[in-house]
Amino acid sequence: MERVGLYPGTFDPVTMGHMDIIARSMKLVDRLVIGVAVSEAKRPLFILEERIEMMEEECARLTKPGLAKIEVKPFDKLLMHFAEEVNAGIILRGLRAVSDFEYEFQMTAMNEQLNSEIETVFLMADVRHQAVASRLVKEIARFGGDITPFVTPTVKERILEKFKK
Ligand code: ADP
Repeated sequence: MERVGLYPGTFDPVTMGHMDIIARSMKLVDRLVIGVAVSEAKRPLFILEERIEMMEEECARLTKPGLAKIEVKPFDKLLMHFAEEVNAGIILRGLRAVSDFEYEFQMTAMNEQLNSEIETVFLMADVRHQAVASRLVKEIARFGGDITPFVTPTVKERILEKFKK
């Protein structure tokens, strides 16, 4: 049976931290769905279409014959309903610091009660990418700092373009 994983997030924009988690996730599943949340409440810098486009560009670099297939899809519903819709048996999340834990712990416990067949798996990025957060990358860029270590060159260009306007 095909193992399907779902990696959900806002990805505003996709960082080296996210890509690290995606590369690790690909070792665990046959098909990886990357769910890009509409997340209107978070007032994202990039519109949904831009976030999807960037994610697709980055994932295209990772795909190789024999490795997990990646699909990037938008979603605007309960995570567990979306997971059921794409037949995911596993939800993948990244853990950075202790601060992520509290939120993730609550969400996992509640999701478990919505559908106990779906397991949530937590992965940690390589130490170099562990502290990277989209929110901080945007802040650094806004004030003219160098974001080269945190995002790919393509994403960097997109961010700089946003702040030029
Ligand atoms: P959300 O709005 O769901 O928090 P994000 O795009 O911020 O969406 O993050 C998506 C997932 O990626 C979350 O599980 C988050 O913890 C994880 N993540 C983000 N950055 C990192 C990182 N540097 N290392 C490990 N996990 C990360």
